[in-house]
Formats: sequence, structure tokens, C-alpha cells
Amino acid sequence: MEIAIIGGGASGMMAALAAKQQDKKSTVIIYEKNDRVGKKILMTGNGKCNFSNMDFRPEYFRSDSTKNLQCFFDAFGVQETLEFFEEQGLLVKNRNGYLYPASEQAATILDILRFACERAGVEIKTEAEVKRIAKKDGGFLIDAKVEKKHFDRVILACGSKAGPKNMTSGSGYLLAKSMGHQVIEPTPALVQLRCMEDFFKQIAGVRTECELTLFVDGKISQKERGELQLTDYGISGIPVFQFSRYAARALKERKSVKVSMNFLPDFSEENYEAFVHNRFEKKKGQSAECFFLGITNKKIMQLFLKLAGVKPDEKIEAGNREKWEKVFLLLRDFQVQVKESNPFENAQVSAGGICMDEVSENLESLLVPGLFFAGELLDVDGRCGGYNLQWAWTSGYLAGRAAFGVSNIVNGF
Ligand SMILES: Cc1cc2nc3c(=O)[nH]c(=O)nc-3n(C[C@H](O)[C@H](O)[C@H](O)COP(=O)(O)OP(=O)(O)OC[C@H]3O[C@@H](n4cnc5c(N)ncnc54)[C@H](O)[C@@H]3O)c2cc1C
Repeated sequence: MEIAIIGGGASGMMAALAAKQQDKKSTVIIYEKNDRVGKKILMTGNGKCNFSNMDFRPEYFRSDSTKNLQCFFDAFGVQETLEFFEEQGLLVKNRNGYLYPASEQAATILDILRFACERAGVEIKTEAEVKRIAKKDGGFLIDAKVEKKHFDRVILACGSKAGPKNMTSGSGYLLAKSMGHQVIEPTPALVQLRCMEDFFKQIAGVRTECELTLFVDGKISQKERGELQLTDYGISGIPVFQFSRYAARALKERKSVKVSMNFLPDFSEENYEAFVHNRFEKKKGQSAECFFLGITNKKIMQLFLKLAGVKPDEKIEAGNREKWEKVFLLLRDFQVQVKESNPFENAQVSAGGICMDEVSENLESLLVPGLFFAGELLDVDGRCGGYNLQWAWTSGYLAGRAAFGVSNIVNGF
């Protein structure tokens, strides 16, 4: 059996190893367009590679398809991933469920995969971009930059459009389309959001705990809590990343996208009312600057005073109480209008990709037998926290095995 794997990223290397596990004598060739495999792995987790997560739930993965993605993880999930890497000698660091190599170096994960491929006899061809795939003689003719070659099976593992330009191309979508597949239009995900308001320069650099609510066309779409990061153009940080795919999609559909920020998320409505009441009682004669001191980040407070029209040196009196109350409202419901997401270059993943309704439970094309898919190229994206690499390991492993006709799926797809 001769198998071509197009793309030497996380999913492609895992697919190659799984294929070789089935039959050592088979020919498995990875075609990688870059000068080396796994470049993106080096960037993951800020160079530390958050390669999976012990807190695993199916709802952490998103897809336009309603198919049961859990069946893939039942066949090769977090436990199997841990066993795989530990078997290769990896010591794992578990930080509140987030899994990293103990070395805290993403290069460790990449080296493990590279050496494992070398030992298994996987051929790696770099600077070998695949331009065309054609069905031929019961198999496939691969037209790579370095050669034209016939294969029995092909696994497309070209990744998405997300990440620095030199690491991504989106050419996997074109190859899949050339084979008749539908591609759900990719949008950036796990990405920063740019906002309309012109006050962001004043609050840039602030990092603070916040509860964020995403509104699409006025309706609550998502809620997230975590460390918000404010930039000179908008909002960033893990909670923003988590719902950014929904925001980017909605913007593409020309819907109105707003985010409300609650800077005091630990107060219930009642507690907050009592807190505000007490504040007005206790700090009666103080200037606004002193009155509001200590509630939240100074830059945020200064902005809210300005937006409410409260001067820092003014004192509370009958005529201005409404403005002071507005500051308290802003602290719990500060709304901004999102105009766009940052581009693919800044995104960690893409939402969208090859439609999961056109692949079998073994990640084989339902249109072209012998063609398999793995990784982010498929219409599956995970939350931030190691879930996207987990999908790369899971889908890569399953596609590599399935290329030999080994079915992995226990529960229905
Ligand atoms: C900055 C950043 C940080 C991230 N951090 C994390 C993290 O900590 N945890 C996590 O789970 N996920 C993280 N991700 C996401 C994760 O890296 C990806 O989901 C994962 O690498 C996808 O693996 P893949 O194999 O599908 O694609 P890729 O890793 O992108 O690999 C695809 C490969 O195919 C090659 N290729 C493309 N087209 C062709 C062609 N026509 N011919 C030949 N080769 C081709 C590409 O050069 C590439 O090497 C991060 C992403 C980024 C950008």
C-alpha cells in the first residue's frame, strides 16, 4: 500500500505514524510545502504547546454539521493521546487540566513526532507543495513540486488559513474542492475583535477579570468569563477568543455584533444594588475621583467618568446623581460595537472547512473513496485550551488507521 499525506503538521505526522503502525512495509510519504515539518506546532501555547486538556467535553468543539463528533474522541481521545506521547518518552505537565510537555518547549512535541516518523520509516519531503490531485488507475496521481507519483490512498492534512502567512495557504480547501467537496467558508477563530469606538487607545494595555456577553442582532449568543485584554483597537484575551468564531461568522453575515463587559461579575444584582447604595451613603462628600477609587482598574474608571460626563473633581449633589449612577451601570454593562475580527494571520484556528457531512465515520470522503481528511482542514474547531491540537491528534490517528481499512468507531457518527 502506498499512502500520500499532504501536509506535515500535527495531524499529518500523526496520520503517518498511525498508518505505519498498521503496516511497517507500506510506503507512507508526507509532502510538506515548507522547508520543515510542524512549523506551527512551535508557535502553539506561546511556545510551550498546550497539546491537550483533561477537561474534555464534546461541546468544546464546534462544527456546522450535526454529526456526533464524540465518536472520534471515544476511539482516540485524551487518554490515548497521553499514552501515545508518554510511550514516546514525553513527561507531561498538567496545569489545572491543561497539558504541556514538562520541558515547556513546543519543540519537544515536534521532535518527538519527527523522530517517531524517522524511526517508523515515514518519508518526509519538504518544499514539496502539492498542487494537484487526480483520480487515476484506481488510486491517485499526486502532483507535488518535487515529483509526480501514484498512490493508493491520500490523506489531506493541509491545515487551515489561520496563522502567519508563511505557515498556511488554504490550498487544502482548493484540493478538496477539486475532488468535488464542499467547503464551509472559513472565518478566523480564536482571534481578537476590532471595535468601532474611538476610546480604545485610552484603555489599551488593561488586563482584568471580566464577564463578557456576545450579542448578535440584539440577542445573547455567548457568555464567557476570564481575563479580558484591551488593545488600542478593541478586545482580546481568552474569553474573547472563545466566542470570536461566532462574532466573525455573524459579521460575515452582516449582523450587528456587540459585546457587553461586566467588570464586577462577582456581584449578584441584589448585592450590587446594596453595594451602590452603601457607596453613596458612606462616601458622600468625596470627589468623584475618590468616590470611585478602588472599584476597578484606574484607566477603566477614568474612561467611565468621562463617558458619563462626571468630572474627577466634582462632588455629588442633587443635580448630578444620575450621571454618577451611569458610571455604576457602565461597570456592569459596558457595551461596544464590533466591526470586524482580526484577519486569519492573527487567528489561531479557522472555523469552517470541509463539510463533515461529506465524510464517513472513518474520515474518508463519501464522494471519492480512498481520500481521507485530518485536522483543521475539516469543519471542526475547538475552544482555546489544547482542543485544536487534540482534534489534530484524534483525526490524524483515525484517518491514518482508516486508510488501511481499520475502522475505529465504536459509537455511531
Ligand atoms: C499562534 C497559534 C497558537 C496556537 N496554540 C495552540 C495551543 O496551544 N493548543 C492547541 O490545541 N492549538 C493551538 N493552535 C492551533 C493548532 O496549532 C492547530 O489547530 C493545529 O496545528 C492544526 O494542525 P493541522 O495538522 O490540521 O494543520 P497545520 O499544523 O497547519 O499543518 C498543515 C501543514 O500542511 C502544509 N500544507 C498546506 N498546504 C499544503 C500543500 N498544498 N502541499 C503540501 N503541504 C501543505 C502546511 O505548510 C502545514 O505544515 C495554535 C495556533 C496558532 C496559529
